[in-house]
This record gives sequence, structure tokens and C-alpha cells, in this order.
Amino acid sequence: GRDYSNVTATNDSNDSGRLLGGLLATGFDEASCLSRYQSPLYRKPSPYKPSPYLLSKLRSYETLHKRCGPGTEPYKKALTQLDQEHIDNNGECKYVVWVSFSGLGNRILSLASVFLYALLTDRVLLVDRGKDMEDLFCEPFPDISWLLPLDFPLTSQFDGLNQDSPRCYGHMLKNQVVGNDKTLSHLYLHLVHDYGDHDKMFFCQGDQTFIGKVPWLVVKTDNYFVPSLWLIPGFDEELEKLFPQKETVFHHLGRYLFHPTNQIWGLVARYYEAYLSNADEKIGIQVRVFDVGAGPFQHVMDQISSCTRKEKLLPDVDTVIERSRRVTTPKKRKAVLVTSLNSGYSENLKSMYWEYPTLTGEIIGVHQPSQEGYQQTEKKMHNGKALAEMYLLSMTDSLVTSAWSTFGYVAQGLGGLKPWILYKPENRTAPDPACGRAMSMEPCFHAPPFYDCKAKTGVDTAIDTQTEEQLGVQEKRFRLF
Ligand code: GDP
Repeated sequence: GRDYSNVTATNDSNDSGRLLGGLLATGFDEASCLSRYQSPLYRKPSPYKPSPYLLSKLRSYETLHKRCGPGTEPYKKALTQLDQEHIDNNGECKYVVWVSFSGLGNRILSLASVFLYALLTDRVLLVDRGKDMEDLFCEPFPDISWLLPLDFPLTSQFDGLNQDSPRCYGHMLKNQVVGNDKTLSHLYLHLVHDYGDHDKMFFCQGDQTFIGKVPWLVVKTDNYFVPSLWLIPGFDEELEKLFPQKETVFHHLGRYLFHPTNQIWGLVARYYEAYLSNADEKIGIQVRVFDVGAGPFQHVMDQISSCTRKEKLLPDVDTVIERSRRVTTPKKRKAVLVTSLNSGYSENLKSMYWEYPTLTGEIIGVHQPSQEGYQQTEKKMHNGKALAEMYLLSMTDSLVTSAWSTFGYVAQGLGGLKPWILYKPENRTAPDPACGRAMSMEPCFHAPPFYDCKAKTGVDTAIDTQTEEQLGVQEKRFRLF
């Protein structure tokens, strides 16, 4: 096995691996965030290299963040703009505030989307810490925090922000109170899955020109809206330069932004060492059941077996004990990492591989780190475990995920894995086929705008199959219809 204990002492020749091909900035205090440097040791090197253009964009973002971030003079000056309805002259720096909202998987995806928007529009990203953002993630930018200061004047309004808020862009459009003569000091962008046609105008180029002048944007979203950014003229060329491989957006931005804190990294590293590191092959199975009721459900169990056998991810067992053959070739060890709120699915698999030998002679170990029972988004350690499990799933060789789950998207994106998706069961029956291979590792945009900005009518933006395939919106087909 590898020695993971002394990674901080590795010499500079290995820096490109340690710094993820230049993705990560230098100059951090390594001990304060071990995952930043240790996680590459737990994964195969990514075959996807960040473009030099992305690297230079990130370095200039870091400079911008340092110049304009919390506590700086430009930040203090920009804050004074918030006292005014309209601003008289442009300040030096503009901001986009991400409001903490929804489950952890949704938050990770939406934060990556808002960061990309910040990159594209030269804004500084500030993160509302909500209940636990600070405990879960290390600071991603050198020197100056990405956390929104606690005394930010609008924070007390965050919870109440919705489609009908007076400063909600969609609401203002609807009520025709958006004038072109004066620049507002701040706007609220409602990009939550329940958003309306006027909110969706955010994805139109003309509206971006207006929004672009506003120094403070506050965004609430639970979506991975990156695919729609590609469809905005004015952003598309820049995106192509940043990401010549379209399906790598979350892969790179996720690895750049999301480093678990030392406490969470401990959960990841200890579990990996104890249960996964000695296996010849690691299979991740993420089971997320959206049905009501306690579970475990037989149809989900059937679906997992059917998918993993048909796709040759896990071997069949020999149920005729007397005839079971003795395989003399060296035995391959497979570790199966199951994540689920319910313990039933992994217990079932585990008993099966204990009670019967496999036809291939492979040895199958089944492990599930936590079984939390139900979603408890407000609880700190609950989300810490969820983050650790997403990370562990991303370290497997093959991944099976559940349709519609952002928890799985985070794992596949960080890992650079193209998962097998367990289709969503209908009427408590296992679908046939049980699963299908995703077209890319890129997360899916669950609530894309059905709006054609030029024609000013509703249209399915995912119908263009070329774009669809490249963007990873394709999964929507299976899932929305
Ligand atoms: P999604 O609802 O599947 O898209 O994923 P989210 O992460 O946004 O929200 C689900 C939340 O439920 C997670 O953040 C966890 O708090 C919890 N959860 C769901 N599945 C699991 C699991 O397998 N393990 C753990 N620890 N928590 C889970």
C-alpha cells in the first residue's frame, strides 16, 4: 500500500500531481487543509487536464478576490452602495452572493455554477455560511476568505427571499419596474427549481447586459445551471476557451473549490484505509430512494442486483452449494461501497456474498459508512458524513448512482466517472432495464429554462441533441419525461 502519512513532505517534482495539474493555487498552509494535497493520492490521476486558459482565469480570479474580498477597501466602498436605491457611479468591484439553500449535493452544484458565473462576469463570489458551510469546506482562495462577513447588511433577509421579493429580478420584470436609465445597487436572482418565466430571463443575453451593471447580486438556487450558461451568446466563446472538453466543467471547478475540512477529511481517509484501500477493485453504489415510506424496498433491491449483474459490475453467486467449484486462480478482491440513508440494501448484498460463493471466485466485501435513516439537512455531522460519502464514492473505479440525485452527481463529477444510473422506479416496480450508462460525468440541470430569448416563447432548450449530448443535459430525457 501507499504511505499517505507523509505527503506534505513530498518534493516539488511531484507538484503538478499534488496541485491537480496547476488547478490549485500555491501558498496555502498545508496542515490547515490536508484534503487539498492528500486527495490526489487516493484517486487515479485524472485523464482530464484543465486548459491553460482555465488556469490563468483562476489565477486572475484569485487576484481579484484578494483585491476586492471581505475587509478590503473596495469591499467597504461597495457596501456603502447598498444604502442607496440606485448607484451614481460604478465602484471598483462587483459581487455575487451565493445563499446557502437546500441539501448538500444541491448546494455543491449550485455553488459551482455561481462561481462559474462569477468567473464569466468578473464578479467576486461570496458564500453565505448558512448552518455549516464553514465546518464542511476549507477556504478555496488564498489569503482572503470566500465567506460572506457575518455583518453583511442583507443577511437577515436571505431566508425570506423568494419570487415575490421586491428586488427579485423576475418580479421586477413582471411588474415592469425595470428601467434602463438607472443602475440598481442590488438585485435578487431567484433560480430555484420553482422559478417562473420572468426569473428565467436571467439566461438571456439582453438581460445579462442589464444585470451585469448591478454591483451586488444575491442568488438563491438549488440547480446546476451551468448547461444554460453555454447557451448565452457572450458567454459561449469564453466557455469554449475555458473548457474545450465541455463535460469537464464540474470536474475541474469541483476539484478546485471543494476541499473537505480536516475533520471531514478524517472521516474519508480513515474509512478508505480501513475498507477500500486493499481491494483490487472498488465499486460505488449510491442508493437514493425518493419514494415515501421507510424502506428498504424489494423493487430497489432487485434493481440494484439486476443492474450490477447485467453490467458485469458484480458477479453472480452459486446458489447450489454442493456443486460450488473451487477456483484456484488468485482471488480478486472487490470492495463495494454502498451509500444510502437506509441500511437494508447493503445488508442484503453483504448477506448474499457471505452465504454463497461467487461464480467467478471473486471475494466481495460490502461496506456502508453511515445509515442516517432520513435527511437531516440542518444537522452538522449529518452533512459532514454526507460529504465524506460523496468523496468516498468519487474514489471508486466504477460507480452506480440513483436518477435525480445531486448527491451522486457530486461523486461522479469529482471522480471523473461516467456512472450507471439506476432509473427512477415508477409504481414501486424495478424498471427494465434497471440502469443505463450516463453520457458524461457532467451533472444534469434539473430545471432548465424552456424559453427562447429571441422568439420570446417557450421552447425545449434540450431538444438540440448535439448541445444536449455535449452538455450532459441528456439525462433529463430519462428523468423529466
Ligand atoms: P439529493 O436530494 O439526492 O439530490 O441530494 P442532496 O445532497 O441535495 O440532499 C440529500 C441529503 O440527504 C444529503 O445532503 C444528506 O444530508 C442526506 N442523504 C441522502 N443520501 C445519503 C447517504 O447516502 N448518506 C448520507 N450520509 N446522507 C444522505
